[in-house]
Order: sequence, then C-alpha cells, then structure tokens
Amino acid sequence: MRFWTLALLGAVACKSTAAGQPDPTPAPFPRVELVATPSDAAQIEAPPSSDVDAGARAAATAAAVTAPADPRAPVMVTQIERYGSKDSARIVVFVTRQAEYDVGELDATATLGPRLYVDIAGAQYAGRRNLDVGGIVQRVRTGDGEGRLRVVLDLQQKVYKRVFYLPEPPRVVIDVSRHPPRSAWQRGDGERELRRLVLDPGHGGHDPGAIGGAGLEEKDVALDVAHRAAPLIARELGIDTLLTRDGDEFVALDERVAKANAFAADLFISIHCNASESPQSHGVMSFVLDVSADATSERVAARENFTSRAAAADFSSNVRSVLDAHTARSSLRFAQLLQRSSLASVSPFYRGVQDGGVRRAGFYVLAGARMPAVLFEVSFISNPTEESRLDSDHYRQKLADGIVNAVRAYREGK
Ligand SMILES: [Zn+2]
Repeated sequence: MRFWTLALLGAVACKSTAAGQPDPTPAPFPRVELVATPSDAAQIEAPPSSDVDAGARAAATAAAVTAPADPRAPVMVTQIERYGSKDSARIVVFVTRQAEYDVGELDATATLGPRLYVDIAGAQYAGRRNLDVGGIVQRVRTGDGEGRLRVVLDLQQKVYKRVFYLPEPPRVVIDVSRHPPRSAWQRGDGERELRRLVLDPGHGGHDPGAIGGAGLEEKDVALDVAHRAAPLIARELGIDTLLTRDGDEFVALDERVAKANAFAADLFISIHCNASESPQSHGVMSFVLDVSADATSERVAARENFTSRAAAADFSSNVRSVLDAHTARSSLRFAQLLQRSSLASVSPFYRGVQDGGVRRAGFYVLAGARMPAVLFEVSFISNPTEESRLDSDHYRQKLADGIVNAVRAYREGK
C-alpha cells in the first residue's frame, strides 16, 4: 500500500510524525480546481483536426502532413477548448490552417468588465457564440467583423497574457493569469522560493508513448517514476506536489501546462523515456524550451509533440516569442542540476550511463508554462539495456531520487 503524505492544496505543511516516519494516513494528491469545459465543435465540414481525442489528433496530424490545407479556403475555427481556474486560464482555438491574428485589450465599461480579444484574420466560426468558463475568464464570446473573427474573453480583472500559435493541429493558444510569471528569484540567503511543484508523467491512456523492444511502455515508466518522486518531494522537502495525471489516463498536452499554471506551481517537470531508431542510442537528457540547436533535439520534440519534424522546427524557430528570460534562465539551471543529480544517483549502480546533457527544443508541453519547466528523458526505452533497467524498481527509484535531489539543490540556490 502506498502512503501519500502530500499536503492538500492550500495546506501549509505536509504530514510527518515527530520521529520522521511517514504518517500512515493516506492523503490524496492535491487537486487543482481546473475546469476543462467540454469542447464545442462547430457544426461545419472541417478536417478532423480538433477532436480532444489524441488518436484523432494523430490522424489529423498525418492528414496535415500529407495534405496541406488549401491556402485559398477560408480559415475555419473548428473548436474552442477552455481550461479555466480561479487565477489562470487557457483557451485553445483550433483552426483549419495557420492564420494571422491580432491581440488587444478593452477596458471595463459601465456594463462590461475588462476584455481580451484575439482577431483571427479571414476566420469563420459556426459554433456557439457564448461559451461559459468560470474563474478569471468568465466566458468566451465570438463575433464576426470585417474579414476576421473576434474571440473575446470576458475577464474578472486585467490579466497577464500570452498568445501563441502551435501547428499540427493548427491552434491559437491564449493563456491568461492574474499574476506575472514565476521566475524563481533567489532570496537574499540564496534560496529559491519553491512551495509548489508539478510532476507531469508523459502520455497515458490510449497513448503509450514509446514502446521498447521487450514491450515496456513509456507511459508506465513515467507514471511510476512520478509516483516514487512525488511523496518524497512532499514529505522530505515539504513541497506541495501535483501530478498532471495520477493513473493510466490520457491528458492532452495543452491541458498539462494549464494544470500547472492553475496550480501556480514554482517548477514543472515533465517525465518521459527517450527513443531512437538506433538501438545503440542511450543516456539521460534534459530539455528546456528554447530555439533548437541540433537535429537530435528536434527529433525528440517532434516525437513528444506528436508532430512532424517540420512543425517542431517551425515552433522551435518562433519559441523565443513565448519565453520569459528570467523563467528560461531558471529552467536551464534546474535542467543542469537534474542532469547532474540523476547521473550521480544511477551511476554508482549502473555502468555506462551516458550524460546526454541539457538540450533545447520546441516542446509543446513546456509552451506557456508560467514557471521554470524542464522535460526529462530518463533513459532510452529503445535501447535493450536501458529498457531492462527501466523495467526494474531499483533503477526507477534511483531516477526518482535524482529528481528529488535536483529539486532540493535548486531550492537551496545551487
Ligand atoms: Zn514521451
């Protein structure tokens, strides 16, 4: 039986007895009040590019790769997904192809609160015009204008915003928050503020992630490593820890960061297994969101994004526009600590674990994170030796220990 001694969301400290033994009372993981509203598919003929189901997305991706959208056809908004919470929200507007857009704000009037709008050039939408959200974004409205579709967010107050485009499937992501990004400034004593952390086990449900030659699935390794690290981070470090998924379930990439933003996390760690066509490839790598410098990183990003390499490269080349410099610096620092501490954790027990280093690429799951964020490729599931290690409790525990030690070092200001 597992003991979750994680503090509940909003609680001050995690539970442990005076003797340092885990409190035997199982407590649930913290919950984040994130309302993912059922998506509103427009009643129109459109490529199946926006179903919430990843299988459909994968199919749409394949379709997008083999049959580019007709550039003369009007841009159709096919769906508007909403992830709302008290302090932050993410609105994802799916379109049939890339389009120009403008972002603006409107001040409160006598009858309306402050609003944020995104005008999508040449777009049309046949779905519902008023979509309730709740929290910081009260509702999303759409209206037609001269040669554009206006998507309006009715806000509770003025917000910090970030709007960006992601290809395959094409979509405009609108992130808003009550608070500025959490840049992990170091305090006078050198410590970093680290009260809340999100672990993001990659894949899940019908998406197994990469599968090793012996049949081991990435989604199971990622979840187990997260399940080993989370109670240690909560109990030993006293940090509230949220998992983006706690079981074998599918969570969309867009929803994962929305959860971390809603939780107001100070650090986001996405956990994955690497894979390569070459069974010789092996080692531990950490990635931060940044312009990609090499083909290997772009390949990894394409695989984790469920996109073509062209789309990953396209997003990589534009990624600076969604980066906050202070947060990016902290991400890089944490990635360095994660590499160092995970190698220190496994190397005494396992021969030849390669330091794949800290790399940069355009990962969707890190895009829009309002806190330092790292994607951790724990080892290569496509390498027979590493697959068999990943299948063992001991190796997984050592990886989890490496994560915990990196979090501790990061908080200490190293
Ligand atoms: Zn993965």
